[in-house]
Amino acid sequence: MRVKLVWTDRRESDVEEEIDSPCSTLEDAEVWAKELLDRFNDEERSMYGEKGRPRTLLRVELPGSSNREHDWRKTSLTTQRRGGELYDAMRCERCGITGKRPGLGGIVLDSKYRAKVYQRCDTAMAHLIMKRGKR
Ligand SMILES: [Zn+2]
Repeated sequence: MRVKLVWTDRRESDVEEEIDSPCSTLEDAEVWAKELLDRFNDEERSMYGEKGRPRTLLRVELPGSSNREHDWRKTSLTTQRRGGELYDAMRCERCGITGKRPGLGGIVLDSKYRAKVYQRCDTAMAHLIMKRGKR
């Protein structure tokens, strides 16, 4: 399937590149794209050494979708109650972060997702991929 890779070499703005992949899911495409960039980085290093510009994968998307908005789904069948407050437990289908939706108003992200990077789905996903990669 055709996917859009977004990567950076830390010297200019993020680069978006549409490319045909042998994968059928975005999850597989993530792994595949990471290996692709690893190979590129190996070559880059052997050719240019310290002067090379290794690329870091930020995210993989379907072409034409920007995925800025989280795709929230309720994870609790019934409304939860805590300290007199009613809320629905929510989870984003795409990036997997969680939050709570009180009866009124928008979704409040859970405390471990309070950083600004989690406010947008695409940046949250990129951040989580980077974190996973470091382990
Ligand atoms: Zn999300």
